[in-house]
Amino acid sequence: MYCNNCGITVNGTYCPRCGSMTVDINNVAPTAASSGTASAHPNSPSVLKWAILGLAFCGWPILNIMGIVFGAIAKSKALEFQSLNGSIFGSAKVGRILGNIAFIVGIVMTVIYFIYFVIIFAAVLSTV
Ligand SMILES: [Zn+2]
Repeated sequence: MYCNNCGITVNGTYCPRCGSMTVDINNVAPTAASSGTASAHPNSPSVLKWAILGLAFCGWPILNIMGIVFGAIAKSKALEFQSLNGSIFGSAKVGRILGNIAFIVGIVMTVIYFIYFVIIFAAVLSTV
């Protein structure tokens, strides 16, 4: 048996220290697992790390290609996390959102920079 109040393992229905009703240790584990958000599988990939890398690169010319790549890795790591843990939660959930943002921003910036360089190239050519 286990006292929720003191956090100690005790024998009997009542805690000898504080007098609280004790709970069965076997009943504590499943409720903690279902309500806890930090109980990710130890082999879970770090989605957030890749997403942050993606965000760091996605806004820069040429480097935004890396933003797309890291964003795509974050997306695949999020799928890996989901298949490993059954659902996505905690920092992995944040990582999936940020990874999607990095991926989309990376693509949008690639298009913008491409148009930008084409305009500059055309302008240079027209002045020659
Ligand atoms: Zn107690």
